[in-house]
Amino acid sequence: MKSATNQPLMGLSNRKCVLDIIRRKPISRSEIAAITHLTRASVTVIVDDLFADGLLTEQVTHSPMVGRNPINLQIVPNARYAAGVTIKRKEVDVGIINLNGEVISNEILPSADASAVEMIKKIAESTARQVRENGILREKMLGIGVCAPGPVDVANGIILNPPNCGLWHGVHIVRLLSEASGYPVLLEKDSNALALEEQYFGLGRDCSSFLAVQINEGGIGSGLIIHERLYRGSNGLGNELGHISIHMDGIKCDCGNRGCLERYASISAILAGSPYQNWRQMIDCLSNDAEAKRLLTMEAKYLSCALVNAINLFDVELVILQGDVCYKPERLLEKLNQRVGPRVIMRSTGLHPVVASSIESFVRTGGIICLHNFYQG
Ligand SMILES: [Zn+2]
Repeated sequence: MKSATNQPLMGLSNRKCVLDIIRRKPISRSEIAAITHLTRASVTVIVDDLFADGLLTEQVTHSPMVGRNPINLQIVPNARYAAGVTIKRKEVDVGIINLNGEVISNEILPSADASAVEMIKKIAESTARQVRENGILREKMLGIGVCAPGPVDVANGIILNPPNCGLWHGVHIVRLLSEASGYPVLLEKDSNALALEEQYFGLGRDCSSFLAVQINEGGIGSGLIIHERLYRGSNGLGNELGHISIHMDGIKCDCGNRGCLERYASISAILAGSPYQNWRQMIDCLSNDAEAKRLLTMEAKYLSCALVNAINLFDVELVILQGDVCYKPERLLEKLNQRVGPRVIMRSTGLHPVVASSIESFVRTGGIICLHNFYQG
């Protein structure tokens, strides 16, 4: 289970380490000293500094025990804000969130007939308008976090060539949006940002290591958290569960491999040739339609094969499903857990490691990139 409440995240500055501990739950100065192994005097200096920046407030908890009531420190939610930009295939969500991940405002910008330059101008204008209309001081803005379908070049701030997303191909989003808005801009692959969102605000809060798997019409994305850190690998992209092969002589994939999971278990792949227009329609037919039941079983069969590989490789505690596949997910989860549980070698959380998220890709998914950089960057 989670370790960072017992020991600090390695590599963070002491200030960030203390801030990251406080954002998890209200906590006293002495508890912070015990967790971080910093001296009480050092904790006092850091905490005073955070107070001076308006980031902390005190909360007196009334204890029935004899003695002084402990004073806990907690984050002031509206001490800072982040803009979140979530690029989807036909629209862009732009909004503002606070340090608690609460959505202050948002706007959906259709992108179907626009150019990237036009969209970047609209995103910058929308951000400025939302900041102004909510009375947010510019110095309280951490920046703009952009999440986009992969592949993206995080280090150079470029959206590369996501399928069915031609408008954004080769766009230097970080440089262009930063120039247009005047804010610092961070870019992340959408499935990595969703994993971070689960870690901060979702089902990954109590996990040290988990895999988030997004299954939508267009494909399968994944984000991996290992020991509370986003796994990026040597290329910065993280992992790609959609391109794990589940059939060595299978269908050829655009990536160069054969038998990739995405070719079998993405929603468009599983519904190809079926009478169903989308996943929801298929799920709604499950009670009285043999074809729907067959397709659901096939989805569980394909997906479980890749998930067992991933669980055995990374020893994650949990797999969190995200995206369109989470519509009425009970039957799929039941079938997946029946297949996955007994097949994994390391069973750190029993026989039910696959769960469904309630998070939808939204402005918070973009904003979390800035929050994560603020707390742990
Ligand atoms: Zn592939």
